[in-house]
Amino acid sequence: MTGPLLQTHALRAHYGDFQALFGVDIALSQGETVAIIGANGAGKTTLLRSIAGVLRNEPGAVRFDGADIGALAADAVVKLGLTMVPEGRRLFPSLSVEENLLIGAQGRKAPGYWTLKTVYALFPILAEKRRVPGTSLSGGQQQMVAIGRALMSNPRVLLCDELSLGLAPVVIRDIYAALPQIRDSGASVIVVEQDIGQAMKVADRVYCLMEGRVTLSGPPADLSRDAIHDAYFGTA
Ligand code: ATP
Repeated sequence: MTGPLLQTHALRAHYGDFQALFGVDIALSQGETVAIIGANGAGKTTLLRSIAGVLRNEPGAVRFDGADIGALAADAVVKLGLTMVPEGRRLFPSLSVEENLLIGAQGRKAPGYWTLKTVYALFPILAEKRRVPGTSLSGGQQQMVAIGRALMSNPRVLLCDELSLGLAPVVIRDIYAALPQIRDSGASVIVVEQDIGQAMKVADRVYCLMEGRVTLSGPPADLSRDAIHDAYFGTA
Protein backbone atom coordinates (compact mmCIF):
# COMPACT_ATOMS: atom_id res chain seq x y z
CA MET A 1 0.00 0.00 0.00
CA THR A 2 1.21 3.49 -0.76
CA GLY A 3 0.15 6.52 1.27
CA PRO A 4 -1.05 6.65 4.84
CA LEU A 5 -2.83 3.78 6.55
CA LEU A 6 -5.41 6.15 8.03
CA GLN A 7 -6.32 9.63 6.92
CA THR A 8 -8.92 12.26 7.65
CA HIS A 9 -9.71 14.78 4.97
CA ALA A 10 -11.53 18.06 5.67
CA LEU A 11 -13.20 16.30 8.60
CA ARG A 12 -16.02 18.22 10.21
CA ALA A 13 -18.05 17.19 13.23
CA HIS A 14 -21.17 18.56 14.83
CA TYR A 15 -23.15 18.02 18.02
CA GLY A 16 -26.54 19.29 16.93
CA ASP A 17 -26.02 22.91 15.87
CA PHE A 18 -22.61 23.11 17.53
CA GLN A 19 -19.65 22.53 15.21
CA ALA A 20 -16.70 20.91 17.01
CA LEU A 21 -14.32 20.21 14.08
CA PHE A 22 -13.70 22.50 11.10
CA GLY A 23 -11.91 20.59 8.34
CA VAL A 24 -9.30 18.49 10.11
CA ASP A 25 -6.64 16.70 8.03
CA ILE A 26 -4.48 14.16 9.80
CA ALA A 27 -2.60 11.10 8.58
CA LEU A 28 -1.18 8.00 10.24
CA SER A 29 1.30 5.74 8.49
CA GLN A 30 1.72 2.04 9.13
CA GLY A 31 3.80 1.56 12.30
CA GLU A 32 3.62 5.19 13.32
CA THR A 33 2.63 6.68 16.68
CA VAL A 34 0.87 10.00 16.32
CA ALA A 35 -0.14 12.24 19.22
CA ILE A 36 -3.05 14.68 19.16
CA ILE A 37 -2.55 17.45 21.70
CA GLY A 38 -4.69 20.42 22.60
CA ALA A 39 -6.43 22.12 25.50
CA ASN A 40 -9.76 21.16 27.04
CA GLY A 41 -12.51 21.28 24.45
CA ALA A 42 -10.13 21.57 21.46
CA GLY A 43 -11.87 18.64 19.76
CA LYS A 44 -9.43 15.79 20.42
CA THR A 45 -12.01 13.29 21.66
CA THR A 46 -14.38 14.33 18.88
CA LEU A 47 -11.66 13.55 16.32
CA LEU A 48 -11.18 10.05 17.77
CA ARG A 49 -14.95 9.48 17.89
CA SER A 50 -15.27 10.49 14.25
CA ILE A 51 -12.51 8.10 13.19
CA ALA A 52 -14.03 5.31 15.30
CA GLY A 53 -17.45 5.72 13.67
CA VAL A 54 -19.15 6.86 16.86
CA LEU A 55 -20.01 10.12 15.08
CA ARG A 56 -21.40 10.24 11.56
CA ASN A 57 -19.01 11.56 8.88
CA GLU A 58 -19.29 13.03 5.42
CA PRO A 59 -18.26 10.87 2.44
CA GLY A 60 -14.48 10.76 1.99
CA ALA A 61 -13.73 12.30 5.37
CA VAL A 62 -12.10 9.18 6.84
CA ARG A 63 -10.07 6.71 4.79
CA PHE A 64 -8.49 3.53 6.10
CA ASP A 65 -6.31 1.20 4.07
CA GLY A 66 -7.47 2.86 0.86
CA ALA A 67 -11.22 2.64 1.59
CA ASP A 68 -13.72 5.31 2.60
CA ILE A 69 -14.87 4.25 6.09
CA GLY A 70 -16.54 7.53 7.05
CA ALA A 71 -20.06 6.11 6.79
CA LEU A 72 -19.40 2.93 8.79
CA ALA A 73 -20.89 2.40 12.25
CA ALA A 74 -18.59 1.88 15.24
CA ASP A 75 -18.93 -1.92 15.33
CA ALA A 76 -17.96 -2.17 11.66
CA VAL A 77 -14.95 0.09 12.24
CA VAL A 78 -13.77 -2.16 15.09
CA LYS A 79 -14.08 -5.20 12.79
CA LEU A 80 -11.72 -3.49 10.35
CA GLY A 81 -9.16 -3.19 13.14
CA LEU A 82 -9.53 0.30 14.59
CA THR A 83 -10.12 -0.02 18.32
CA MET A 84 -10.54 2.73 20.88
CA VAL A 85 -9.34 2.92 24.46
CA PRO A 86 -12.02 5.33 25.68
CA GLU A 87 -11.50 8.23 28.03
CA GLY A 88 -12.44 7.17 31.57
CA ARG A 89 -11.68 3.44 30.94
CA ARG A 90 -15.39 2.39 30.94
CA LEU A 91 -14.92 -1.08 32.41
CA PHE A 92 -17.90 -3.35 32.98
CA PRO A 93 -18.46 -3.08 36.74
CA SER A 94 -19.91 -6.55 37.30
CA LEU A 95 -17.15 -8.33 35.38
CA SER A 96 -13.75 -9.52 36.54
CA VAL A 97 -10.52 -8.22 35.04
CA GLU A 98 -10.26 -11.32 32.85
CA GLU A 99 -13.87 -11.09 31.71
CA ASN A 100 -13.34 -7.45 30.79
CA LEU A 101 -10.32 -8.45 28.73
CA LEU A 102 -12.20 -11.26 27.00
CA ILE A 103 -14.95 -8.85 25.95
CA GLY A 104 -12.33 -7.07 23.86
CA ALA A 105 -11.85 -10.16 21.72
CA GLN A 106 -15.59 -10.29 20.93
CA GLY A 107 -15.76 -7.15 18.76
CA ARG A 108 -13.13 -8.43 16.35
CA LYS A 109 -12.13 -12.06 16.18
CA ALA A 110 -8.66 -11.63 14.74
CA PRO A 111 -5.89 -14.04 15.62
CA GLY A 112 -2.65 -12.21 16.27
CA TYR A 113 -0.02 -11.37 18.83
CA TRP A 114 -2.42 -10.28 21.57
CA THR A 115 -3.99 -12.95 23.79
CA LEU A 116 -4.66 -13.12 27.52
CA LYS A 117 -1.12 -14.45 27.89
CA THR A 118 0.58 -11.57 26.09
CA VAL A 119 -1.63 -8.93 27.76
CA TYR A 120 -0.70 -10.41 31.16
CA ALA A 121 2.96 -10.34 30.16
CA LEU A 122 2.58 -6.66 29.25
CA PHE A 123 0.80 -5.80 32.53
CA PRO A 124 1.72 -8.55 35.08
CA ILE A 125 -0.43 -6.97 37.81
CA LEU A 126 -3.52 -7.86 35.78
CA ALA A 127 -2.65 -11.55 35.94
CA GLU A 128 -2.53 -11.31 39.74
CA LYS A 129 -5.89 -9.55 39.79
CA ARG A 130 -7.57 -11.54 37.03
CA ARG A 131 -10.45 -12.73 39.21
CA VAL A 132 -11.37 -9.49 40.98
CA PRO A 133 -13.92 -6.99 39.63
CA GLY A 134 -12.25 -4.61 37.18
CA THR A 135 -13.74 -1.58 38.89
CA SER A 136 -12.14 -2.50 42.25
CA LEU A 137 -8.68 -1.78 40.80
CA SER A 138 -6.76 1.49 41.09
CA GLY A 139 -7.17 4.06 38.29
CA GLY A 140 -3.87 3.07 36.70
CA GLN A 141 -4.69 -0.63 36.82
CA GLN A 142 -8.11 0.07 35.29
CA GLN A 143 -6.36 1.94 32.50
CA MET A 144 -4.22 -1.16 31.93
CA VAL A 145 -7.40 -3.26 31.66
CA ALA A 146 -8.87 -0.78 29.17
CA ILE A 147 -5.71 -0.94 27.05
CA GLY A 148 -5.56 -4.73 27.36
CA ARG A 149 -9.22 -5.06 26.37
CA ALA A 150 -8.56 -3.03 23.21
CA LEU A 151 -5.44 -5.08 22.41
CA MET A 152 -7.45 -8.30 22.63
CA SER A 153 -9.03 -7.32 19.30
CA ASN A 154 -5.53 -7.32 17.75
CA PRO A 155 -6.07 -3.82 16.39
CA ARG A 156 -4.32 -2.46 13.35
CA VAL A 157 -4.83 1.01 14.78
CA LEU A 158 -5.18 1.70 18.50
CA LEU A 159 -7.00 4.95 19.28
CA CYS A 160 -6.11 6.02 22.85
CA ASP A 161 -8.04 8.83 24.55
CA GLU A 162 -6.19 10.59 27.39
CA LEU A 163 -4.38 7.62 28.89
CA SER A 164 -2.94 9.85 31.61
CA LEU A 165 -6.22 11.38 32.77
CA GLY A 166 -6.39 11.54 36.58
CA LEU A 167 -3.31 9.37 37.11
CA ALA A 168 -0.20 10.07 39.18
CA PRO A 169 3.02 10.73 37.21
CA VAL A 170 4.62 7.44 38.24
CA VAL A 171 1.55 5.54 37.04
CA ILE A 172 1.46 7.49 33.78
CA ARG A 173 5.07 6.47 33.21
CA ASP A 174 4.18 2.78 33.65
CA ILE A 175 1.25 3.06 31.25
CA TYR A 176 3.29 4.83 28.60
CA ALA A 177 6.10 2.31 29.00
CA ALA A 178 3.76 -0.20 27.33
CA LEU A 179 3.50 1.77 24.09
CA PRO A 180 6.77 0.65 22.46
CA GLN A 181 5.74 -2.99 22.91
CA ILE A 182 2.31 -2.26 21.46
CA ARG A 183 3.94 -0.65 18.49
CA ASP A 184 6.36 -3.59 18.09
CA SER A 185 3.33 -5.89 17.89
CA GLY A 186 2.49 -4.15 14.60
CA ALA A 187 -0.24 -1.76 15.74
CA SER A 188 -0.16 1.86 14.64
CA VAL A 189 -1.21 4.21 17.42
CA ILE A 190 -2.99 7.53 17.86
CA VAL A 191 -2.81 8.98 21.37
CA VAL A 192 -4.88 11.95 22.43
CA GLU A 193 -3.06 13.67 25.25
CA GLN A 194 -3.26 16.90 27.23
CA ASP A 195 0.14 16.20 28.74
CA ILE A 196 2.39 17.76 26.09
CA GLY A 197 5.63 16.36 27.53
CA GLN A 198 4.30 12.82 27.47
CA ALA A 199 3.02 13.22 23.91
CA MET A 200 6.38 14.53 22.73
CA LYS A 201 8.20 11.55 24.24
CA VAL A 202 6.17 8.83 22.54
CA ALA A 203 5.09 10.30 19.22
CA ASP A 204 6.74 10.17 15.81
CA ARG A 205 4.54 13.08 14.85
CA VAL A 206 2.28 15.46 16.74
CA TYR A 207 -0.83 17.38 15.71
CA CYS A 208 -2.03 20.26 17.85
CA LEU A 209 -5.74 21.10 17.78
CA MET A 210 -7.28 24.36 18.88
CA GLU A 211 -10.99 25.11 18.66
CA GLY A 212 -11.57 22.33 16.14
CA ARG A 213 -8.68 23.14 13.79
CA VAL A 214 -5.14 21.79 13.38
CA THR A 215 -2.86 24.65 14.39
CA LEU A 216 0.51 22.85 14.21
CA SER A 217 1.91 19.49 13.12
CA GLY A 218 5.24 17.78 12.71
CA PRO A 219 7.83 15.55 14.38
CA PRO A 220 8.48 16.61 18.00
CA ALA A 221 12.09 17.54 17.24
CA ASP A 222 10.94 20.11 14.67
CA LEU A 223 8.51 21.89 17.00
CA SER A 224 9.79 24.66 19.25
CA ARG A 225 8.34 25.27 22.70
CA ASP A 226 7.07 28.67 21.58
CA ALA A 227 5.38 27.28 18.49
CA ILE A 228 3.67 24.61 20.58
CA HIS A 229 2.60 27.15 23.16
CA ASP A 230 1.03 29.36 20.48
CA ALA A 231 -0.65 26.43 18.74
CA TYR A 232 -2.00 25.06 22.02
CA PHE A 233 -3.20 28.23 23.74
CA GLY A 234 -3.40 30.70 20.84
CA THR A 235 -1.34 33.85 20.69
CA ALA A 236 -2.33 36.58 23.08
P1 ATP B 1 -11.19 17.29 26.69
O1 ATP B 1 -9.72 17.29 26.89
O2 ATP B 1 -11.92 18.17 27.64
O3 ATP B 1 -11.79 15.92 26.54
P2 ATP B 1 -11.31 17.56 23.82
O4 ATP B 1 -10.21 18.29 23.11
O5 ATP B 1 -11.31 16.10 23.76
O6 ATP B 1 -11.40 18.08 25.30
P3 ATP B 1 -13.96 17.38 22.82
O7 ATP B 1 -14.44 16.54 23.96
O8 ATP B 1 -13.77 16.75 21.50
O9 ATP B 1 -12.64 18.15 23.22
O10 ATP B 1 -14.98 18.60 22.67
C1 ATP B 1 -14.90 19.54 21.60
C2 ATP B 1 -16.05 20.51 21.73
O11 ATP B 1 -17.28 19.81 21.52
C3 ATP B 1 -16.16 21.16 23.11
O12 ATP B 1 -16.55 22.50 22.93
C4 ATP B 1 -17.23 20.36 23.80
O13 ATP B 1 -17.93 21.17 24.73
C5 ATP B 1 -18.13 19.97 22.65
N1 ATP B 1 -18.80 18.69 22.89
C6 ATP B 1 -18.20 17.51 23.14
N2 ATP B 1 -19.11 16.52 23.30
C7 ATP B 1 -20.32 17.10 23.13
C8 ATP B 1 -21.67 16.63 23.16
N3 ATP B 1 -21.94 15.34 23.39
N4 ATP B 1 -22.65 17.52 22.95
C9 ATP B 1 -22.38 18.82 22.70
N5 ATP B 1 -21.14 19.34 22.64
C10 ATP B 1 -20.13 18.50 22.86
